[in-house]
Amino acid sequence: MDKNFLEQINKDKLSLVYQSCPNCFNPTLSLFYSVPAVPINSVLLLKSRDEALSFLKGDVNLAFCENCGFITNISFQKDLIEYSSRYEETQGFSGTFTKFHNRLANYLIDKYDLRGKKIVEIGCGKGEFIALLCEMGQNYGIGIDPTFLPDRKPEIKQGEVEYIADWYSKKYADLDASLYICKMTLEHIPQTNEFLSMVRETIGNRKDAKVFFQVPEVTRILEECAFWDIFYEHCSYFSADSIVNLFHLTGFDVKNVWTGYDDQYLMIEASPLLLGTSNSIGLRSSTIKNLVDNFSKTVNLTINQWVEKINLLRKNGKKIVVWGGSSKTVSFLTTLNIPYSLIEFVVDINPYKNGTYLAGSGQQVVLPEFLQEYQPDIVLLMNPIYQKEVSQNLADLGLNPRLILVNE
Ligand SMILES: [Zn+2]
Repeated sequence: MDKNFLEQINKDKLSLVYQSCPNCFNPTLSLFYSVPAVPINSVLLLKSRDEALSFLKGDVNLAFCENCGFITNISFQKDLIEYSSRYEETQGFSGTFTKFHNRLANYLIDKYDLRGKKIVEIGCGKGEFIALLCEMGQNYGIGIDPTFLPDRKPEIKQGEVEYIADWYSKKYADLDASLYICKMTLEHIPQTNEFLSMVRETIGNRKDAKVFFQVPEVTRILEECAFWDIFYEHCSYFSADSIVNLFHLTGFDVKNVWTGYDDQYLMIEASPLLLGTSNSIGLRSSTIKNLVDNFSKTVNLTINQWVEKINLLRKNGKKIVVWGGSSKTVSFLTTLNIPYSLIEFVVDINPYKNGTYLAGSGQQVVLPEFLQEYQPDIVLLMNPIYQKEVSQNLADLGLNPRLILVNE
């Protein structure tokens, strides 16, 4: 996309683009948010600041579909993304997150009577969730993910899991599972209709099979003007409407849609319809369109306010660290486009990240213990759901910095 075109977008935020919706194939989309040159990966473990700062960049140009409510990055190029053993996405080191996973596993086991059954997880990451389901219900699981690492395979006392380091595709059509799970994966896939149609095809005529998907929920992102929740790897953004529309278009009957994890995640439960059939689609209200309009009008002001706030704190001699070495932090810091001298360190409890550097913004990731030496005045918490856990962590270290929540 050339520079003149981008300038035109910035003047007239909701400009029409003639690019078809990958969710419903509507031929036009409305462009509403642009961030040029952001790192194309934000959870890779990078060994040096030079490598982090010179990391490959791409543009975010979010467009909205008025037909199905879907939001997509029209500048996304999937071939740029590296899903390898350097990909470190797990949240499994957090007690708050582990509790959420346990509750979700219990819910699915009870609801679908998952005891002694076969379960497939599409995009299982390091395999924690499929292992949990199999251990709790003595199930047999198959976890498929190109970033799976055999030496990080979770140990379980009962049940069994087989892992396949690969992309899920039609060649796995004979797995014959009772439940197909796909968590935090669909938002990484640009051609959402094509992907879900492929998943539907692999289920075939097994009408008893159930499907459970989990993705980030975009309504909250728009409402809170949470620009830090928008990053390159996430090319697809869903509300309840747009995910229901996608499932209806690709041969599923939607049974339940709900949000969890402080409304950060959207869950959908569905059953396959007869092959070749689909349900009707549409938007239930104008809420999502209004939120998109409002976001496009206020986001630049929000970004500028953060830049001013951080500059002022540093001018007053305050040492700031950010808590959470994840995509949210990379997006926050690269969108603000501030030098790493303003915020030098980012804290993360995942020991695999210790000593690595954040793509694009260049901060070094440190363990919480480092703060005893560094003595920060301010800890900026990127995910407010961890407030209690982080406050406890800081108290255990004998530290009492001011904790600022990013959505305050
Ligand atoms: Zn659409």
